[in-house]
Order: sequence, then C-alpha cells, then structure tokens
Amino acid sequence: MIKAIISSFWFFLIAYSAYAMQPTLESFHIIGVSKEVENVIFTFNKIDSYRFIMLSNDYWYIAVPQKRITIDTPINKKLSINDILIRDIRDETRIYVRMNPNYTYKYSTILSKNGKYLIIRAKKELIKQQLLKKPKPALKTKPVIKQKTTTTKQQNNKTIKPKQFTAPPKGHRLTIVIDPGHGGKDPGAVGIYNKEKNVVLDIAHKTAKYLKKYGYRVILTRTGDTYPTLSDRSRLSNNVKADLFISIHANYAVKDRRNAKGLEVYFLNITSDKRAIALAARENGVSTKEIGDINKIVLSLIQSAKIEKSKILALDVYNSMLKEGRKIYSHYKGRGVKQAPFYVLVDTRCPSILIETAFINNRQDARKLKSATFRQHLAIGIARGIEQYINLHLKNKISH
Ligand SMILES: [Zn+2]
Repeated sequence: MIKAIISSFWFFLIAYSAYAMQPTLESFHIIGVSKEVENVIFTFNKIDSYRFIMLSNDYWYIAVPQKRITIDTPINKKLSINDILIRDIRDETRIYVRMNPNYTYKYSTILSKNGKYLIIRAKKELIKQQLLKKPKPALKTKPVIKQKTTTTKQQNNKTIKPKQFTAPPKGHRLTIVIDPGHGGKDPGAVGIYNKEKNVVLDIAHKTAKYLKKYGYRVILTRTGDTYPTLSDRSRLSNNVKADLFISIHANYAVKDRRNAKGLEVYFLNITSDKRAIALAARENGVSTKEIGDINKIVLSLIQSAKIEKSKILALDVYNSMLKEGRKIYSHYKGRGVKQAPFYVLVDTRCPSILIETAFINNRQDARKLKSATFRQHLAIGIARGIEQYINLHLKNKISH
C-alpha cells in the first residue's frame, strides 16, 4: 500500500514536473497540534483561492483553480493521512486526501494572507468503534460546491419543501439571529422595483420560517419597518446568546459599474495582535517553541476562531444560495466569499456573516429580487447553508 502510494507520488512528480507552470506546491506537512487536532498544511509558492470539498468524512480534496501543480518536496506521510493523489480536472488541480478512516473529523480551513499556506485543520472526533456503541446522526457528506450550473431552467411553480434535517440534541436549541439590513428611516439601497429594506425583510422572514422548521430558535433584529442601530443589532445577538448571526442585504451597483450583479457573502476579518496569539497559545496548551514557523499561522488561526468559523459559514451559505438561486435563474451570478470590516459583524461574539443577495439596481438582478419564488429559494439556500454548517462544524459544541 505504502509502496503504491510512494510510486504513484513519484509518477505524479515526474508527470507534473514536465510542466513548469504555476502554482507550485512546495511542500506538504501534517502537524499534530494536540492529541485531537492535526493540521494538514500545503505550502505553495502562491495561490489566490481554493475550494475544500468533502467527499466523505475521511476523504476530501482541495482544488486550486490554475492548471498544473508541481511538487518539489516528497510527501511526508504521517499521522492521519492514508493517501494523497493529484489530478487535473478541467481548469483546476485537485489534491485528494484520504484520512485514517478510524476517526471522524471536524474540518476547518484557512488560507494565509500571502497565499502561501493552506491549512486544513482536522479535529479528530471519535473512533468509529465508539460510534457503534453510541450512534450519532450521519454527517452529510455531499460535495459542497458546484459552481457552474448551466442547464437549470426557470421552474417557477415548483412546490418547495424544506429538506428534513436531524433535530438538534435535546435540551440544546441553537439560536440563530437573522438581521434584515436597514429599515425605518433608512431604506438602504433604492432599486428599480424595490427598496433594500423591504426586500431583505421578506427574505429574512422566509429564512426564519425554514430555520424554525428545522428546529432552531430564530430571532430577527427587526420584524417590521423599524430602524435598530447597528449596535442594537449586535447587542441583541449577544444578549440572546446567538450561535450564528446572519445579516441580509441587497447590493447597489455604482454609476460606472451598473453591470455588476450577483451574490456576495462576507465575513469579518481583522488583524491579529501578538498578545492575543500568545494568550491563545497558552490557552491551547501549545508552546511557541514546539511549533515552527508555519504554526505561527495556525496560532493566529486559533486566536481568530470566530473569523475562521465565519469564513466556513460564509462558504456554506454562499454555495447553498447559489445552488438554490440557480434553480430559478440559472444565470444568478456568484461573485464569491469575501472579507471586509462590516461594523455590524464586529461586535457579535458568534460566527457572523453578511449576505449581499443581489444588486437591486441592476436590471437583471432587480427582476430576480422582484420574484417571490426567487426570494423563497434564496431563503431556502440560506437555511440549508446554515444547516450544513451546523452539521459539519458545530456538532458537540452546542451548549451555553
Ligand atoms: Zn445593505
């Protein structure tokens, strides 16, 4: 087995070194941070973006959009990795990783700001034999992302039934705060057919309806045409001990960019300071001595846990919204998951995202937002994205 892996590795090394193209995967490490946490760290010369796709709990891949990846250093097979394989598929390169199947994992991912390090953090949960004794609802293992849907046509009068999801554990009901942007004296962006404050309120109510069906406690920062301030909203979120905070907005295309359209999901990013990193190192029981240069990034990741979680939540919601939205309008554009310092996200203690559903003053997007069916599908998309995030990343953490 090991021989086969090594030889297939060398085969790929030879095959890929024939193409001296970017980006280059320079090295690959697995570092055990603690008994339960391992970091799979890919070092590139530079990448701008990636996708992390779970095929099953112990089998996943990362996809880098550019063609051709070369590996300059041999793979050091250690700890939980059973197998690794690199493939070119269409216009991206995928690195498939098979983990030790005796564990279940909870994953989180981060790309360092300089595009050099991609870290897949795998938290070992349970040995599968233990699972047999104490059954747990199966994790959803469907591939998360499908960017290009071209064949779906308009299907307006379809009956919509929210998918049945596993109920949250007894006694622990997750609280989700939905924040329809603006309201009252603040109309938000004024579009061709609608004002932002009204469109987002409708989507928020619809989203709340689906989330309640899944068994969550849902609280809206406003239920009508009122104007809570931004700090009112985050204070409310903290007061009700929200587990997730979702702010819903509609975008506005400025004068010379009227063609701008599509969905954007934001998470908050801030710079991490050294003292906080040191504190995190202490709290996590790791010394800076033990871990090398690469783990400095991991430390900042541990410190900024909220950002990391928000980013994953943003990705889950983004993918789910695109998928649902495209059932109605196949041309619903995905502009990506982005980071920005939104004030409303700064003070919330839980993972928080801000959704820019579509451009309310772009002709095509405005037409979409006008459709109640489309808004309903956006709501389903948000709810399912949240559900997926909770199933994959929040299990066993549900307590106040
Ligand atoms: Zn807004």
